[in-house]
Amino acid sequence: MKSEMTTSEIMALQEAFVMPTYAPKTALVRGEGCWVWDAEGKRYLDFCSGIAVTNIGHSHPRQVAAIREQAEQLMHVSNLFMNPLQPQLAEALVRCSGLAGAKCFFCNSGAEANEGLIKLARLWGSTRGRHEIITMRQSFHGRTLATLTATGQDKVKHGFGPLPGGFVYADYNELDSVRALVNDQTAAIMVEALQGEGGVIPSAPDFLPGLRALCDEMGILLLCDEVQAGVGRTGRWFGFQHYGVEPDAFSLAKGLGGGFPIGGIVAGPRLADTFQPGHHATTFGGTPLGSAAALAVIETIEAEDLLANAVAMGERFMQGLADIAAAHPAWIEGVRGRGLMNGLVLKVPAAPLQQFLFEAGLLSIATAQRVLRMLPAMVVSAEEIDQALSWIDVACHALHDEMVALVMQVDEN
Ligand SMILES: *Cc1c(COP(=O)(O)O)cnc(C)c1O
Repeated sequence: MKSEMTTSEIMALQEAFVMPTYAPKTALVRGEGCWVWDAEGKRYLDFCSGIAVTNIGHSHPRQVAAIREQAEQLMHVSNLFMNPLQPQLAEALVRCSGLAGAKCFFCNSGAEANEGLIKLARLWGSTRGRHEIITMRQSFHGRTLATLTATGQDKVKHGFGPLPGGFVYADYNELDSVRALVNDQTAAIMVEALQGEGGVIPSAPDFLPGLRALCDEMGILLLCDEVQAGVGRTGRWFGFQHYGVEPDAFSLAKGLGGGFPIGGIVAGPRLADTFQPGHHATTFGGTPLGSAAALAVIETIEAEDLLANAVAMGERFMQGLADIAAAHPAWIEGVRGRGLMNGLVLKVPAAPLQQFLFEAGLLSIATAQRVLRMLPAMVVSAEEIDQALSWIDVACHALHDEMVALVMQVDEN
């Protein structure tokens, strides 16, 4: 194993041996809190957080210690045996969820968690003659065959047919469009409390409660995909908690392990015992090591009061972004988000702004073409928020004329 490599050495190796599913140009070699360093030693303020994964910051000492201790004790035993960490993690998640009588299933990724949610809904529906699942346009649920079918974006589906049946698509934040799709085959409605990949779009105040009421009226399931919004990112443990709504089950991954790959399902009392032995399984689900890593994330969020910090820093950031947007109404539409899931919505592609910020030293993500998505870790400080805002302000001034010209081109076409 080589430790010291230049960016060009890493890139040559990557191009030769790694499938080009992404096109990265930068190699990161070290992280601490909200900061990362590339192979050339340049430091960046990381407002990607591994796409909403490193919610307690990079290499948090409490989590590093927990992983190191557990690695020395026991890493993996399969689910043919119990281990003491997995049920502790389940207990902690059920407590955070507020879903009385809930139980968990653990897996490895967001797609796998959603695949499990889909299977859970199908199995529940199988005795009721119901199998159809309603998902939302612009949603994102993963890249396995069932979850890319559930995803309400055509671009992830091309070339992968035939796709599994049983999915229909409604408009996000349009209750009537969901209601119109419910029939006697419908098993569940699956929804993100805040759409992430779709462009940082929060559920309207009455949308999730409306879906809950619709599900109760029709006797069907409400499933929330909390893979991106979950585990504190929005300032509450889970996105649905902003809406006073309880789903029948929800999925988790990204932030759950804080960088250690682990996903999970939390299912309320209607679904907690639906899976029986033989129905669903995964080799790596809830290993001692993964569970210890996730427990350390939850303990850190509690010990450092990071939900409150996410709320306070989110407000500071959104206010600053709103001020910047107000200074450039010709090409910036406004801001969206909750807590530390933030989007600056442009009238033009976000890639040039993202690139400018990258060069300045701020990592962000261009999403849904026109949205600059920013996902700082929950340990972010006021100084770091202000640093990011100052870079964004400078970038917006520098790019102003170019962006205004782009808006005019877009308008002409
Ligand atoms: C990222 C994401 C997924 C997929 O998670 P993976 O771990 O990449 O499989 C599913 N749903 C949402 C909302 C996501 O943001």
